[in-house]
Amino acid sequence: MTVQLVGSLRKELAESLSTCRVLVVGAGGIGCELLKNLVLTGFKNIEVIDLDTIDVSNLNRQFLFQKKHVGKSKAQVAKESVLQFCPTANITAYHDSIMNPDYNVEFFRNFMLVMNALDNRAARNHVNRMCLAADIPLIESGTAGYLGQVTVIKKGLTECYECQPKPTQKTFPGCTIRNTPSEPIHCIVWAKYLFNQLFGEEDADQEVSPDTADPEAAWNPAETEARAMASEMDGDIKRISTKDWARSTGYDPVKLFNKLFKDDIMYLLTMDKLWKKRKAPLPLDWHKLESQVRPQDDVKAGGLKDQQVLGVWGYCQLFQQSIETLRSQLKEKGDGAELVWDKDEPPAMDFVTAAANLRMHIFSMNMKSRFDIKSMAGNIIPAIATTNAIIAGLIVMEGLKVLSGELESCRTIFLNKHPNLRKKLLVPCILDPPCANCYVCASRPEVTVKLNVHKTTVLSLQDKILKERFGMVAPDVQIEDGKGTILISSEEGETDANNGKFLSDFGIRNGSRLQSDDFLQDYTLLINVLHVSEDLEKDVEFEVVGDAPDKAPTPPSNQEDANSIANGNKDSAQPSTSSNAPAEEDDVMFVDSDEAASSSSSAAAPTSSTKRKHLDDETGEASAKRPRTNQSHEAADADDDDDIIALD
Ligand SMILES: [Zn+2]
Repeated sequence: MTVQLVGSLRKELAESLSTCRVLVVGAGGIGCELLKNLVLTGFKNIEVIDLDTIDVSNLNRQFLFQKKHVGKSKAQVAKESVLQFCPTANITAYHDSIMNPDYNVEFFRNFMLVMNALDNRAARNHVNRMCLAADIPLIESGTAGYLGQVTVIKKGLTECYECQPKPTQKTFPGCTIRNTPSEPIHCIVWAKYLFNQLFGEEDADQEVSPDTADPEAAWNPAETEARAMASEMDGDIKRISTKDWARSTGYDPVKLFNKLFKDDIMYLLTMDKLWKKRKAPLPLDWHKLESQVRPQDDVKAGGLKDQQVLGVWGYCQLFQQSIETLRSQLKEKGDGAELVWDKDEPPAMDFVTAAANLRMHIFSMNMKSRFDIKSMAGNIIPAIATTNAIIAGLIVMEGLKVLSGELESCRTIFLNKHPNLRKKLLVPCILDPPCANCYVCASRPEVTVKLNVHKTTVLSLQDKILKERFGMVAPDVQIEDGKGTILISSEEGETDANNGKFLSDFGIRNGSRLQSDDFLQDYTLLINVLHVSEDLEKDVEFEVVGDAPDKAPTPPSNQEDANSIANGNKDSAQPSTSSNAPAEEDDVMFVDSDEAASSSSSAAAPTSSTKRKHLDDETGEASAKRPRTNQSHEAADADDDDDIIALD
């Protein structure tokens, strides 16, 4: 038997619930809760779309799914489960990507309301644009650990999902990783790089050896040269790759250990300027450590293996064992084989745990458990069932306001980890009006992009600028040169010949304007080209200028509540409704979040600030809202471990 809320709603509202059609995008952590809430509230016509299939790791919180459903479509099974307790509901399930062109503006116009229960920015951007194009209200949501938020987006009335610039992925400066780590995450990133250098695909951007060009070390050139000579004489490691060297030793764990944790550290110590104001690292020596081992060092502490922090010698042994296992894995795969780092592969995770901890110890940091390192290395923010349930409840509450025509009473609601001064966990904020210079919802969206027209190819304009940065799915680009030259066509193959050419080959120069259209999203963006001949920052191909709204002042210290969470989703390009995102990351993405990190350079996203107003829920007074802060690591590092759902 089902109890429905209909009896307690106004008659007109109850009636409109039973007739209106709503779309739920995503049937994961939030989606399952939301579908249940919708039918129990009295919604009758629901369409749900999700590309994912059910994974074992979903079962602890995505309660519409059972073990027997593993491998099946989330959307389909969610529909069947919901129908069991509300057989009269009319539910349509799509096992598909919402970014599929079949779901065009006409499709979106079928609905009174769209509700996002997504996990990634690409799909969120897309649904935002589709709802703007179709002029359908959208409720956006996200959770990350204990934190969550819900907001309402309505064309012309509120900010859209893209009005506020999202923090871009932060990468750590190479010299922090290679020379002067100051936080555990720096050592974890280093250990992941090291894994790739030794066993995976070598990447020049993932160097792990001391960086002699560190500007902070700033020694005089003669000295640098002498040092370089010395280091070349010193075993010649510099001139051959780390992998070749490791291979030449037969992946000897002790030799690797002494190079990485003794010789390289001693070399760093010679860069004495680095240690004037920092605690100098302490090299480790395998043989010395081995000779100091006491029998009790081998005794393992109690508790779960993943949550233990071993002693230094324990990590030395783990380092040795994991290298031996990885070495034989590599051997089995044959010549030229490479391993791919995966937090769910025990030997790979053991290696990173050991190497990161040894480096933390060398740099005087407290070592961390395998569990903590796994969260940080995989950028996993644990998914918490109750957070999803609260957020799904709030989505329905906001949805009822939208359907009652009370848009003015809609709020952005933040769920915080700790109660605020008024003992509230939920903090409502007034919705902001659209941002006038938003590159999505402004009446004529326009941006200026700084790039070098002689170095930027048409393909990188398409992939990195239009798709990755501006969220287009299938852009067409025309040069405003009076002739309407087509630079990029969304028709397959039509302009492929242009891909490798530089923008300057098409007469594009400083001041050129490009009109970029995405037909599906019904979105046109004008791009003003600002040519720069000097290089932008290293590895930066382009920079967007002038589209960022002015920033709020720096956040007050002691910022505890999260008003926005940068998400630690490991891969920005893996929307669960548009590709196969790893299952356990299905609901860590945030409304205002960012793919704070990539698999290769995990990092927190920088703070992005806004000038929104808090509306105190009791007094109705608006007060300055705290700037958004990134909380991904706090979330990942949550100290109340007993509430955290195991990651796998
Ligand atoms: Zn906007």
